[in-house]
Amino acid sequence: MELRAVRGMNDILPEEVERWHKLEGAFRLHAELHGYAEVRTPLLEPTELFRHQMGETTDVVEKEMYSFERHGDQLTVRPEGTAGAARAYVEHAVHAKEPITRWYYLGAMFRGERPAKGRYRQFYQAGCELFGDPGPLCDAETIDLIAGFLERIGVGDFVVHVNSLGSAGTRERYREALLAHYTPRKDRLSEDSQRRLEKNPLRILDSKDPRDHEVSRDAPSILDLLDDADRAHWDGVLRCLDVLGVNYVVDPSLVRGLDYYTRTLFEVKATSGDLGSQSTLGGGGRYDNMIAGLGGPSVPAIGFAMGMERLLTLMPGDTSRRRPGCFLAPLGQVGADRALLLAKQLRALGVSVELDGRGGRLKSMLRRADALGARLCVILGDAEMERGVLQIKDLAAHVQEEIPLDGAARVLADRALESSPGGGQRGAR
Ligand code: ATP
Ligand code: MG
Repeated sequence: MELRAVRGMNDILPEEVERWHKLEGAFRLHAELHGYAEVRTPLLEPTELFRHQMGETTDVVEKEMYSFERHGDQLTVRPEGTAGAARAYVEHAVHAKEPITRWYYLGAMFRGERPAKGRYRQFYQAGCELFGDPGPLCDAETIDLIAGFLERIGVGDFVVHVNSLGSAGTRERYREALLAHYTPRKDRLSEDSQRRLEKNPLRILDSKDPRDHEVSRDAPSILDLLDDADRAHWDGVLRCLDVLGVNYVVDPSLVRGLDYYTRTLFEVKATSGDLGSQSTLGGGGRYDNMIAGLGGPSVPAIGFAMGMERLLTLMPGDTSRRRPGCFLAPLGQVGADRALLLAKQLRALGVSVELDGRGGRLKSMLRRADALGARLCVILGDAEMERGVLQIKDLAAHVQEEIPLDGAARVLADRALESSPGGGQRGAR
């Protein structure tokens, strides 16, 4: 029987993991510079959490969640990070400990969608959530954080789409306006959208079906319906974005897939590269009612998530790889025993070591040392062992020399560490 990975779920092999580390490291650094601290929440949450927070009529809740029952509990493997973070915020009464909370997360999310390039069933997100600040300054700072991050990792060609959904009253008026727009055109909508028309006409704006795009083209704009407070907030966000010099476009058709959003919404789209219809790198928005909806106090919040696979596709850069500082090539039993010990001593001194214990010929071991990109190859022949020496071959400088076995670990460590910044463990190919 041939067993393969689950469709839409990818193995990430070590040669790719280097780039993941680079991306994750850049995100951690960037988020921490903005005052965010990492939070880790469970992969499984009560199904009800997502159903309630993301909305019954969203694609994710309607058809993409991995849900199951175990021990009488209805559970779902998280399709996104915000609901879990908000649940944790409420559960631990974080509002009582600090007025403003900034959390970031990195991790796998699961959605049973149709796999394509940049669209998987297990995928990774990096995201931030900010609790306790109603904006608009922090809305603009949040958007600028993403823009700054993309620049940090060398993704320059992107544009930020922004919109406001207003608050509850505005959305209700907008719902009416959309109903009035779509109802007479109902026959031209996709089946999904026809079904959602009564329940949630906003969803239609977010549909990926070309039939819906056509009918949505001259739909009313929510920005015309903002009340005074929403309008003041929205104007504030745009002013701050201008101050920060963020490259944005106002996009009244932007509604995004989830029900929990209020007021500011944004999405970052790549303007070059080959992501096709998967060009959205990340998105987010304000969700001022979620904390209260989860039984917490009335605490405003804003957050976003980015798709790591899509970022990696666009992130330039070489694939660097780990390189051993020392490659140990023993040529006999005595040499092999000595190599075991030497490897242990070198690692304790911070040098990465590859010990070839296969007992092969010197030529093939040298070839292997070269292929691994080792800085030094240490040859431990039995004859040399008897004389109390070993041979070092500097594979970059192509020189060979003999040193005493006594104190060899220290000498080798100094060489390996000096010759390769970063501890002889890493380097560009
Ligand atoms: P899309 O419109 O591409 O389906 P979305 O609105 O469903 O995205 P969000 O829930 O906002 O996406 O997630 C934020 C980001 O996570 C997306 O912009 C995208 O980069 C990434 N993402 C979402 N779903 C997937 C997936 N199935 N595979 C890979 N990345 C994804
Ligand atoms: Mg989606």
